[in-house]
Amino acid sequence: MQYCPKCRTLLEGDTCPDCKGKTRVPEAGDPCLAVRMSGVFSEMYEDILRQEGIPCLAEGELGAGISSIIGTRLEVTDFFVPFARLEEAETLARELFGEDKQEGTSGTAEDGPAEDATDA
Ligand SMILES: [Zn+2]
Repeated sequence: MQYCPKCRTLLEGDTCPDCKGKTRVPEAGDPCLAVRMSGVFSEMYEDILRQEGIPCLAEGELGAGISSIIGTRLEVTDFFVPFARLEEAETLARELFGEDKQEGTSGTAEDGPAEDATDA
């Protein structure tokens, strides 16, 4: 696994296919692209990272100028985390969007087992 300090991505090989720059072995503190998210998800994800104490650098794809016109909802955000925390950050992203992706109807509480033993 190699790291391109310019693109801040992990890749294979000695030369970055994007910037043609030289890659090197990643170090613990190198910011790496963990995930790319948009709108409300990026806010949720940033929140989760903060709760987990993972330092992150969020960069909007469109830049502040455009996103202030069309609204941040459509903006795609790249999340960079230190290489040492990359795996955690990716796992969190998977948990966030993994199985429970449906948001839809809230309020239909699941029918748990009856709890009627609390009668004093
Ligand atoms: Zn590069």
